[in-house]
Amino acid sequence: MTTQTTWKGTFYDGRSLIPQAVSIFVEQTGLTFQLASGIHQHWPYAQIQQTQGRYSGEEVRLEHGTGLCETLVIPNANILLAIHEIGREEASHFHHPGTRRKRVYWTVAAALAALPIVYAIFTWGVPSLAGPITAAIPISWETKLGKFVQQEFTEEDEVCQDPKLNKTIESIMDRLLKPMNERSYQFQVTVVDSPMVNAMAAPGGYLIVFRGLLQDTDSPEELAGVLAHEIQHVMLRHGMRLIVQHVSMAFIIAALSGDASGMLSYGFQAAQTLQALSYSREAENQADEQGLALLQQAGINPEGMMSFFDKLGEDEEDSSPFRYFSTHPPTTERRDHLEDLESANSMHYREFSVGQDWEMTRDLCGTESGENE
Ligand SMILES: [Zn+2]
Repeated sequence: MTTQTTWKGTFYDGRSLIPQAVSIFVEQTGLTFQLASGIHQHWPYAQIQQTQGRYSGEEVRLEHGTGLCETLVIPNANILLAIHEIGREEASHFHHPGTRRKRVYWTVAAALAALPIVYAIFTWGVPSLAGPITAAIPISWETKLGKFVQQEFTEEDEVCQDPKLNKTIESIMDRLLKPMNERSYQFQVTVVDSPMVNAMAAPGGYLIVFRGLLQDTDSPEELAGVLAHEIQHVMLRHGMRLIVQHVSMAFIIAALSGDASGMLSYGFQAAQTLQALSYSREAENQADEQGLALLQQAGINPEGMMSFFDKLGEDEEDSSPFRYFSTHPPTTERRDHLEDLESANSMHYREFSVGQDWEMTRDLCGTESGENE
């Protein structure tokens, strides 16, 4: 009897939970298969870890890589016999079905584990898994969600349409984004005509700046400091993570599977979460530190970021719920930390000119604009 060399299985890329049917060839050195995209995969036996398929009735689960690794699930456990037969010593770390033990309840677990992250949610709960779940959400889904969140915030208030203002903000964004070569997000800034002194980052790169904050800035460097901080919240997926921690299971399953239907209601839920909750101290520190690094890479003087912190510190008694940086840590502490970081790696900065008077530019939005001319 010849050994069966081709087996049917399902491939998961580790980033989404979208299954791909594959035909797996058992070869002497490893497993080979081709994805729908045409990409040819070869997994040497030494790089494969068998994480499931030791008990009767269980599917065989093979993982490749680290972290949220690539996975093959093979329903027919006899593939293990073929792997042993063909791979020999190289495949000796795979379980041999001849030594199977019977444990029926594992079949139930196996069915759940077909969706590995959902299984993990049931086992450990959502909060401790917010990181890996966020990492598994496809960027395309996050971007669609972000667009809906942005719409939730900009519907009632008027969006500032002044072309001069928008062009100026675009030029600041261009300068900030230039050093970031590999970017998964297309950033977009919307200025909302509202007196709130606030700015926020919706998932997927949709930044929202409220007029109140814009008018509080005294230089393009100050606005660049705020934008750099918000860009890093997006890059670090802080908003997405906060949303994952606080929304329903249905949302998470839809997000992981890339299911776009019903996005509108999720957009509302997500916007509410972003508005009502604040980031952790750790997340704010990260966005500060990496925001500072971004300013430095772009050659923009971080003094603007720090002077804006000073201004916020002065308003610290202001109890407005919309105050920017309303979260811990206190702004003075954050400012001191940034100053230390900056002086440790100080450099020469060119003055940032937007080609026109800043005070005039920042006032181009909203009811107060144009009145003093
Ligand atoms: Zn922040």
